[in-house]
Amino acid sequence: MNENLQIRTFKKTGHIEVICGSMFSGKTEELIRRIRRAEIAKQRVKVFKPSIDNRYSEFEIVSHNEQSYPSEMVKDAEEILEKSFDVEVIGIDEAQFFDNNLINICQQLADSGKRVIVAGLDQDYRAFPFDPMPQLLSIAEYITKTLAVCVVCGAPANRTQRISDSNEHILVGAKNYYEARCRLHHVINIETENEISTDK
Ligand SMILES: [Zn+2]
Repeated sequence: MNENLQIRTFKKTGHIEVICGSMFSGKTEELIRRIRRAEIAKQRVKVFKPSIDNRYSEFEIVSHNEQSYPSEMVKDAEEILEKSFDVEVIGIDEAQFFDNNLINICQQLADSGKRVIVAGLDQDYRAFPFDPMPQLLSIAEYITKTLAVCVVCGAPANRTQRISDSNEHILVGAKNYYEARCRLHHVINIETENEISTDK
C-alpha cells in the first residue's frame, strides 16, 4: 500500500460543529438528529450535559418536542475530556452553562480526531452573547443557527424573552419562564415592557 494512503487511513481529522439559537428553536432536536445518524453509521457516540440542567431528566437530553437521547451529566468540561477517550462523536447540550474551559476542551477533542457537536443558547435573556458560545462559534468548522417563531407576531425569532421578573443570569427552565421573540418584540424585562405599553 502507498505510504500516503496508509497515513490517510490511520489519521482522521476532527472538527467542531455548533448548533445555536434561542430557546424553542430546536437545538436539542437537531443535536439528537445528528447523533442518531452517526449511531446508524456505527460510530461510537456519547452525549453530555452540565449538571445544572436536570429539568427533564438526569440521564437523557430531552428536546421541547419530547425527543430524547441518553446523556451523561458532568460537573465541568474537564469531565467530558476524561470520559471521551473511547468515542468518535461527542454531543454537548446546553453548552452555555459550562465555563470558558469548554473552548479548550472542544479544541483538544477535535485536535485528537473527534467530531464534536455543541448545542447551546447563543444569547442570554437580555440578548447579550452567552459565554462560551461566541468563542465556540469562532473556532467551529460548521455553524447552524436555529430560529424559533416569535410568540407575538410569528416572525422568525432568535431571542429569548424572560417572562419572569427574576434578575438571575441563569434561570433554568422552559415554558413558565421564557418565550421566543423576534428583535422587535424582545424587551429586557417585564417592567420595561409595561412602561412601553403605558407610553402608547
Ligand atoms: Zn415578533
